[in-house]
Amino acid sequence: MARLGRFADGGPWLVRTKESLRRRIHDAGGTSIRGGTVIANRRRQVVAASLLGLLCVGLLDLGSASANAVSAGRDTQPAAHGSVNPRTGLPGGMLPTKSHVRGAASSRRLVNRATVPHLTYHGGPVVSNAAVVSVLWGGAGTYLAQVTGSVSPNMDTFFRHVTDSSYLSWLSEYDTPAGGTNQSIGLGTFVGRTAITPSSVASGTPIADSTIQAELLRQINSGQLPAPILDAAGLPNTVYALFFPQGTTVCDAGSCSGVQFCAYHSSFTAAVKGQARNVRYMVLPHPDANIVSGCGSATADTPEKVLHSYTSHELVETITDPDVALATTTGPPLAWYDPALGEIADICQGLAEGAVTGTDGVSYVVQQEWSNALDKCIIDKGAISPVPAPTLTLLTDTPSLTAGRAVRLSGTVTRSGAPVAGQSIDLIVRRAPGNVEQRIATFTTGAGGAFAVSDLPSATTRYVVRAAGASSPSRVVVVRPKLTAGLSRSVAHRGRPVSVRGSVQPSASSQRVFLQRRVGAKWVSVQKAVVTSSYRFGLRPTRPGAYRYRVVAGATQGRASATSGTLRLRVLRG
Ligand SMILES: [Zn+2]
Repeated sequence: MARLGRFADGGPWLVRTKESLRRRIHDAGGTSIRGGTVIANRRRQVVAASLLGLLCVGLLDLGSASANAVSAGRDTQPAAHGSVNPRTGLPGGMLPTKSHVRGAASSRRLVNRATVPHLTYHGGPVVSNAAVVSVLWGGAGTYLAQVTGSVSPNMDTFFRHVTDSSYLSWLSEYDTPAGGTNQSIGLGTFVGRTAITPSSVASGTPIADSTIQAELLRQINSGQLPAPILDAAGLPNTVYALFFPQGTTVCDAGSCSGVQFCAYHSSFTAAVKGQARNVRYMVLPHPDANIVSGCGSATADTPEKVLHSYTSHELVETITDPDVALATTTGPPLAWYDPALGEIADICQGLAEGAVTGTDGVSYVVQQEWSNALDKCIIDKGAISPVPAPTLTLLTDTPSLTAGRAVRLSGTVTRSGAPVAGQSIDLIVRRAPGNVEQRIATFTTGAGGAFAVSDLPSATTRYVVRAAGASSPSRVVVVRPKLTAGLSRSVAHRGRPVSVRGSVQPSASSQRVFLQRRVGAKWVSVQKAVVTSSYRFGLRPTRPGAYRYRVVAGATQGRASATSGTLRLRVLRG
């Protein structure tokens, strides 16, 4: 929105100002905010958060800043996003859409061009064993089948198996020291899924983050949702995964889903059934067309893939830095955070996704995350189930065909030589003349790891299948138009009119058609026409004899040229 646009595109002055302000606030108040004393400092944090937000946006937002401070007496902390990611200019914890990253790319360089990514521990808590509670924000709306359904894979199996996979097992790298919160990060669990009925104020669109917090707390306190469970250190393990129906836009601090961000994770501190708790949640908007194009590829990615991708991003960031939204300094309650590049998945954003295979054998798309130990972005260290990429083959039953005929594509998926059954595969095409990559089908391998599918190409097409991050070799099928040609008569007296007629299908805006005559050993073009489909060439042969003609349709609009059969004309003396 306006103030974020200004912030992201504001150039070096604003970026430097933001950094120096952050430092100033850190120097002035940072030492009074320590991990584990969040409640006691809550009022002070909110004021500091508002102040930081106020200064960051160039003194524009006095009204909402004071509103935040006033409402801090309630159980929730509205608009608690205190920190701002220096790379994106968005509140900490937010995953920006691609266009928003581009806007912030220059500021990233300005912060520190020579930055080597490194996550530093800032003293805050992590999530030891993530216990994911899925929440459908209103049961009546439209969701992806993977969110509401029970057929695997779905978001339940995603959480159950990704939290139990090699994608998480290596995060013990980010255990917190005894001088910090003294927590060990291990595997997680999926608790279950509940559809809630939000109050009317929390049912509309756009819905504000502060409204989400209040409603989430209300649902927990009323027993509709399970309260946070705690780890050995007495810190919450529970992460609420909030799914919103199609058409619901979520906004926070002037940023909205599908415009500035794909998803975010956040937290607030509240009295949950009388106990002070940090409530951690992930806002996972419906992957509509805006989000698919802004957070993935509109032509090559499914909504399900994009949803898996940003959910994995938020999940690992919630685990390694759950309370970023409560941080007002580069100190507690920040946990693992790179002051220049953000959180564990922010560092790797824009790199290709990978896949992690669950114990159910299904491969789930996940984003890469930063390993301090390996000094690079990874999916895992192969600790639990080192799963090699599958090998995909692809064959076509013909290298070329006439428009209107189908091509049959078949192949197999194997891993280490063994067939992979039940593997979801995307069929990707690039069709001439534009050659834009498009996903045209998603299907599943059969018992022997085999698949077969048909396509009806109307132009020359390059095919490839993809699964679990691997691609098959590409196969090209050349498509020719369907060309008909006929003589009005095969025997004619000299001087009498004869015509050659026919059509080219599919029709094209400027199809060139040539009438050729056999002269010695060669075919020579004798007439030419530019048509859309039907054509007619007129002849008036004057010399008796035997003639051979044919028609050639020139290559056009992604189709190869086509040649008719030979037309034989006998001209009589008269
Ligand atoms: Zn992030």
